[in-house]
Amino acid sequence: MPPRRVIGIDAGGTKLLGGVVDEDLVVHHRVHRLWRGADRQETLAIFLEAVEEVRAAAPEVEAVGFGLPALVEWETGISRWSNHLPLDDVAFRDFMTERLSLPVVVDNDGNASVLAEARAGAARDARHVVMISLGTGIGSGLWLDGAVYRGASGMGSELGHMVLDIHGPDCPGDCPGRGCFEVLVSGNAIGREGERVAAEEPDTELGRRLAAGLEISGGIVTELAHSGDQAALEVVAEIGRRLGYGLVGVVNVFNPEVIVIGGGAVRAGELLLEPARRVVAERALPPAREAVRIVAAHFGDESGMLGAAMMALDLLGEEPRS
Ligand SMILES: [Zn+2]
Repeated sequence: MPPRRVIGIDAGGTKLLGGVVDEDLVVHHRVHRLWRGADRQETLAIFLEAVEEVRAAAPEVEAVGFGLPALVEWETGISRWSNHLPLDDVAFRDFMTERLSLPVVVDNDGNASVLAEARAGAARDARHVVMISLGTGIGSGLWLDGAVYRGASGMGSELGHMVLDIHGPDCPGDCPGRGCFEVLVSGNAIGREGERVAAEEPDTELGRRLAAGLEISGGIVTELAHSGDQAALEVVAEIGRRLGYGLVGVVNVFNPEVIVIGGGAVRAGELLLEPARRVVAERALPPAREAVRIVAAHFGDESGMLGAAMMALDLLGEEPRS
């Protein structure tokens, strides 16, 4: 019998990535979409289009899993609040079930990511795992005692909105906080810090790009850092240190065996992770810091999509074999 197939959809703050995934976790077809400021109705239409596009290539799919950048009520599949998409109080699971005529499961994108990495990725076989995805903002997931931890009503865990600096900048979007982890450390934060340093160091490649009116995004800064540009290296190291300060709290609170760093910003690799590990080694409580490994996501920026697919497979009563 051929392996069963489902669709996994990972929605980030900027874009959507989806795919047809089988129970051996092989991805057969992929789909990408950008939100580009879509309103609620357009956003839901983009989700439907993306699912139908990959479904056309694999009509045998049996379920769909969605990871949303939102606080999702786990029992009901209602998206209660999102800092990035117009998905406040949307009965997402019921809407998609009706429109797609397939079983649907909906969870927070960070929960989907930690599921993939803990079951089959960088933290496989660990019982206590924290996942941090650095993209537009910070997505996060907790795998505690061998299961996803969602809190009382499924709203956990939003580590991106832990406060790192009580006098820090306002958190973007609808978060009432300031100085949150995600405003200081994310793919977008690399871009913002890159702009600041570029203005101060006009004789670097980063500085010349700014002077030429080119966009300074997290991706550009990371690319320049890999090519050895001093200013870009400083930016990535600074964000890495800030990441480390956030992880000090994570290590002290959760005593995880593995912290998995994912999302687009992990393309910076060791340039980002090494400064973070140094801060944790200096500042976290000694027994807990000695127990933790801080590693890059095994599935890169596809953890969320694969985790969403795994939830859909679970829905079918099938555990992925790998
Ligand atoms: Zn916040």
